[in-house]
Amino acid sequence: MMSEQGQQRSEPPVWPAGHRAALVVSIDVDGEYGVIAHHGEDDWYWRAQARYDLEAGVWRLLEILADYDVKGTFCWVGRAAEDRPDAVLAAHRAGHEIATHGWDHRTYASMTRDEQREDLIRTRDLLASLTGVVPVGHKSPFWRFDEHTVPLLQELGFRWNMDIAAGDLPVAMQPHPELAPVIQLPPSRLWDDYSFFVDWVMPPRHAFELWRDDLDVLRAEGKLMCLTLHPWVGGRPGPSRALTQFLDYAISLGDVWIARADHVALWWQERERDLAGGRAS
Ligand SMILES: [Zn+2]
Repeated sequence: MMSEQGQQRSEPPVWPAGHRAALVVSIDVDGEYGVIAHHGEDDWYWRAQARYDLEAGVWRLLEILADYDVKGTFCWVGRAAEDRPDAVLAAHRAGHEIATHGWDHRTYASMTRDEQREDLIRTRDLLASLTGVVPVGHKSPFWRFDEHTVPLLQELGFRWNMDIAAGDLPVAMQPHPELAPVIQLPPSRLWDDYSFFVDWVMPPRHAFELWRDDLDVLRAEGKLMCLTLHPWVGGRPGPSRALTQFLDYAISLGDVWIARADHVALWWQERERDLAGGRAS
């Protein structure tokens, strides 16, 4: 135990400017299409619940992030972006990253390679036409991808993906060795508001306490945490307290790098390149 602790203390901070941990706040804007893909087109109960996404939840989350001056990453379902382009623009103009989350929230694992490719391009191009900036990040609907997804992301020039919890640090994935890697950022169902407020229906303080404890451990180890919020879930009044309490805590620590997913991914890629260069010389 002694040597483990000593080793942790002697490791330099991994993150820029001496930050001891990194935190990404990612917000998946599904509109009604997540629940349609999950419960079916005719399930008006869930569709009615998910209406909150674009009508209220996304706006509350934008206000919270503005209050804390935190820049996050909004992963958009293409059809939800079509329904409310004003919300896409509001997020973009506030300095948040805009990333792709599937055209209509069908799982990529259920699509052929060509269908996935078409879905990625269609969603990316719609978002680019709205903001003037080409998205470089992708989160698969329900985090369900297959062996085609990462190679396709590389081929299409995406730089990060948040589907695979391959540890507590980013991982460079490069199935095409000749193309730039896709940086995998780790999601967790324990960092997903849906688990707490839909699957388990818990008070917001429970989400906050779990996220706080996770951040404490990751900060001691110099690692990365990626929250996943849904406006119709974590953007509701009480559940939004989980986010505000957590941001209060993370900011109070003074050494947590709260950054957009693209900034974390690109920084990580530079670091890997520097390390490889250092090894080569
Ligand atoms: Zn989703």
